[in-house]
Amino acid sequence: MPISIQFTQSYVGGSWKDSRSGKTYEVVDPSTSKCIARVSDCDAQDATQAVDAAHQALKSWQSKTSVERHGLLIKWFQLVQQSADMLAEIMTLESGKPLSESYAEVNYAASYIEWFAEEAKRVYGDVIPAVSPDKKMLVQRQGVGVCAAITPWNFPLAMITRKAAPALAAGCTMVLKPAEATPLSALALAYLAGKASIPAGVFNVVTASHGVDVGKVFSQDARIKKLSFTGSTAVGKLLLKQCADTVKRVSMELGGNAPFIVFNDADIEQAVAGAIASKYRNTGQTCVCANRFYVQSGIYDRFVKALSDAVKSMKVGHGLDEGVVQGPLINQASFNKVAGLVQDAKQKGAEVVVGGEPHSLGGLFYQPTILGNISSDMDIVHQEIFGPVAAISVFEDEADVIEKANNTPYGLAAYFYSKDIARVWRVSEALEYGMVGINEGVISTAMAPFGGVKESGMGREGSQYGMDEYLELKYLCMGGLN
Ligand code: ADP
Repeated sequence: MPISIQFTQSYVGGSWKDSRSGKTYEVVDPSTSKCIARVSDCDAQDATQAVDAAHQALKSWQSKTSVERHGLLIKWFQLVQQSADMLAEIMTLESGKPLSESYAEVNYAASYIEWFAEEAKRVYGDVIPAVSPDKKMLVQRQGVGVCAAITPWNFPLAMITRKAAPALAAGCTMVLKPAEATPLSALALAYLAGKASIPAGVFNVVTASHGVDVGKVFSQDARIKKLSFTGSTAVGKLLLKQCADTVKRVSMELGGNAPFIVFNDADIEQAVAGAIASKYRNTGQTCVCANRFYVQSGIYDRFVKALSDAVKSMKVGHGLDEGVVQGPLINQASFNKVAGLVQDAKQKGAEVVVGGEPHSLGGLFYQPTILGNISSDMDIVHQEIFGPVAAISVFEDEADVIEKANNTPYGLAAYFYSKDIARVWRVSEALEYGMVGINEGVISTAMAPFGGVKESGMGREGSQYGMDEYLELKYLCMGGLN
């Protein structure tokens, strides 16, 4: 086992625990398809124990001052930063992402803890002008209580901190189920929470090879007041239904189908740099990855040529190897999906500009790919690719491309490139998306609200708004003040 991997049991009530059944499951390095560790395989009973711990810890965590919570979160933030080597190595081993991206994610994940540690001190209320002289009317904001989180494998650390940090800052406790593929980053984060003296039971991690049973507990236990989920739209819909019986608050960060539009007046260099960052980061496995490229006819050839030059030079391989910028896909199902979408597009007339086949490294590696001549009858236009494949269509008209861009049930991120200020406003306002990158391919930061509209979800993470997801408003009306 690599030296960085030390934590393989669930973290509940401040202690490391085997699953009650004693079962474990394999965590696999997607670059080698080899087992790198075995972790606790928890069931519904284990999940309920974690809820017990979070419930028990709630009162005393709530009663801490915001300054005390700030101090503990800042300690956690510092420890995450100081542990970058360990965390980045674990992340690359279990997710396959290049080491440089893992280091960037450690910083990104830490930035949420720092941001919400600060926000803990700013959970202000309101005084409302009273309706009569004998009254005082106030609004107080209080933590919702015990929260549950279910997170995906593509950002094994940051998707956790952007839920856990605001929850803890707001005085909530949390139970977390990380993705089955990437439990090790989550457990290392839990270790650091303990080391930061965050009290036992405030942050609990339950690992499981199948999320279903744990997910049922998290969405049906009445002691949990809020569920925050990042993952596929299909699972999000299921969890929403499961949460209905206890009327839980929910935040849902679900799938996307991001359009990336390049107008004739765009700066090509900027557009290509943005396309590379948005499309190929994490080997195309982010929910804000550009999924459909629409390039205006006057710039199409030049854009495709410049993008091809950049993509051809990408080094593919094990994320720990020097200079690698593209890793493997996460598992066989993902690989099959990507290969199937490319195959379908090719059969329907797509032009293979670069790649278009499994990589010669074998296993879960797929060639960084560019497909041209994409048309709307191809599956690749309608499904989230989640792989290193840029699917490019040509367009003529602004109104037409906006209609195409919006013609999807999803509404997470959109990108476009133009130097025309009037167009920038028109297009920004017309795009039905929660986030729009304008002449910019990387939009996520702890300071901005991340989230989608339509079937991409509800709620926002990060920023001053991210805290609201973990707070209830309480209206206080004092009468008889004659
Ligand atoms: P992805 O396609 O990114 O793997 P999923 O939605 O399948 O997206 O997974 C995201 C998270 O949801 C993971 O932690 C996974 O274990 C969990 N999950 C998947 N199915 C369920 C379910 N039925 N109930 C609860 N959690 C689930």
